[in-house]
Amino acid sequence: MKLRSVFPAFSVTLFCLSFAMAASAQSKTQPADTIVLHGKIYTLNPKQPWAEALAIRGERIVAVGSDTDIVKLRSKDTKVIDAKSHLVLPGFADCHIHFIDGSFSLGRVNLEDSKDAADIQQRLREYGGKHPGSDWILGRGWNYAMFPTSLPDKKYLDEVFPDRPAFLEGYDGHTYWANSKALALAHITKDTPNHPNGIIVRDPQTGEATGALKEAAQSLVAAVIPKPTRGEKLAALRDGIRWANENGLTRVHSAGGDFEEFDLYDELLRHGDLTLRFYVSYFQDPPELRPQDISAIEDARKKYTGDWLSAGAVKFMIDGVIESHTAAMLEPYSDDPSLRGKLFWDPDKYKSAIAELDKRNLQLFTHAIGDYGIRTALDGYENAERLNHTSGRRPRIEHIESVSTADIPRFGKLGVIASMQPLHSYPNNDTLDVWARNIGPQRASRAWVWKSIAKDGGQLAFGSDWPVVTLNPFNGIQTAVTRQTSEGLPKDGFVPSQRLSVAEAIRGYTLGAAFAGFREKTEGSLEPGKLADLIILSQNLFQIDPHMIDKTKVLATVVGGRVVFQSKP
Ligand SMILES: [Zn+2]
Repeated sequence: MKLRSVFPAFSVTLFCLSFAMAASAQSKTQPADTIVLHGKIYTLNPKQPWAEALAIRGERIVAVGSDTDIVKLRSKDTKVIDAKSHLVLPGFADCHIHFIDGSFSLGRVNLEDSKDAADIQQRLREYGGKHPGSDWILGRGWNYAMFPTSLPDKKYLDEVFPDRPAFLEGYDGHTYWANSKALALAHITKDTPNHPNGIIVRDPQTGEATGALKEAAQSLVAAVIPKPTRGEKLAALRDGIRWANENGLTRVHSAGGDFEEFDLYDELLRHGDLTLRFYVSYFQDPPELRPQDISAIEDARKKYTGDWLSAGAVKFMIDGVIESHTAAMLEPYSDDPSLRGKLFWDPDKYKSAIAELDKRNLQLFTHAIGDYGIRTALDGYENAERLNHTSGRRPRIEHIESVSTADIPRFGKLGVIASMQPLHSYPNNDTLDVWARNIGPQRASRAWVWKSIAKDGGQLAFGSDWPVVTLNPFNGIQTAVTRQTSEGLPKDGFVPSQRLSVAEAIRGYTLGAAFAGFREKTEGSLEPGKLADLIILSQNLFQIDPHMIDKTKVLATVVGGRVVFQSKP
């Protein structure tokens, strides 16, 4: 699961000019504020799938059609965007993102694509040299395949940072790696008990912590890291929003970590600096739903209701991940039959929490990766619907990495949205060696089965899980379409029966995503009345070798009728 960044070095000209024009057209129709001409516009509106041009007034699209039709809406004050025959799509939504973590990750040490422990040490030395001092070394992106025989050990970090605390998140956010100094500051010793939902990995001989901390055990160290100031958070968010716009995102569904930061988003909105739409979920910790959770969720839902910033979703996490054997499986792990993962929630408490929130018409997200976790979430949603006599709630399951065959049709039947992250299936060593080995070939043959879920009537919504992988949606589209690495491996594709068409993959980031957030009436396609959120791309995804999709650059991003990103010529 590689992070590949978007390089801004390419050249394009995009003209935004005001044209003087005779006043004749104005008498017939009110002129547009902005028109986009000469585009190859893929609208996702089945009544008019392709168009050349569109017109925007205020924040909304007012007309879609031919250049000849749309040019009639031009006045002397109309801004004209010449798309120069480039592909124009609705703005992309990322349905699963950890936005504040991602924003901070932009300024921290990045270990993605490291080869091994020595390579990691080299990167850390470089980063430490550029950031001298004694404060914490924070970063992320190592993966399990970089440590072929075991989990990472504190000794590698101690060699680089003997006196400076270092704390590094694994690429999936489920295992952390601390050095001796960080463990000491967190008072983790031989005698520290495990967290109920986490493991302090210990040396089998000495009982000493090795530095690897699984799942919630990381909170012991996280608690002693100095908290960023409000100013630092705002600066990070501004960087994150810019990065998202540059990659073609116009909306995100935040899946945890920033409900507490609503106020910061609101401040950006009040200053006119919010150029990305946010749907922010409340993270519901186990072991149970408490009255204070309900009031926090209800207060936010009342307060944030607009197109830019809204609440009303609650995120649960029912299990962990397959790589570290924390995803809950119906049968034991193949590489270690003593393990089958476990649910983070008592199933009855989860069920009753889901039913209570469903009754209140809140949208539910459940992180579920293993087949047992997924089944538990489906059962919880089915139970809530039956108990409350509700329908059309669009509850969601996030990730769905290995699902039992029997549960595939339940997504369509129950109206449960499959919120998946195509780049997580990127078939590199971490996926093929670690992920697939852990669950064995039979269960690995049901890896990320978006095609099967959709065939049985389930709705797909795509995202990244940034900072777990890059938020660049073109990497995701390419992986969903090819089920191969950029180098075309494996040759026949990783579970190739699950390949999507380019149109289906785009839909997951646009109309499917809008549906997954109850926004399909105002977002997700380019048609009159909808918000003017659109992107202009460097290449036509429908006409190129699918292995080149990740080379796509965004030339311009328009949100609410405003150009918020434009590539440099
Ligand atoms: Zn996530």
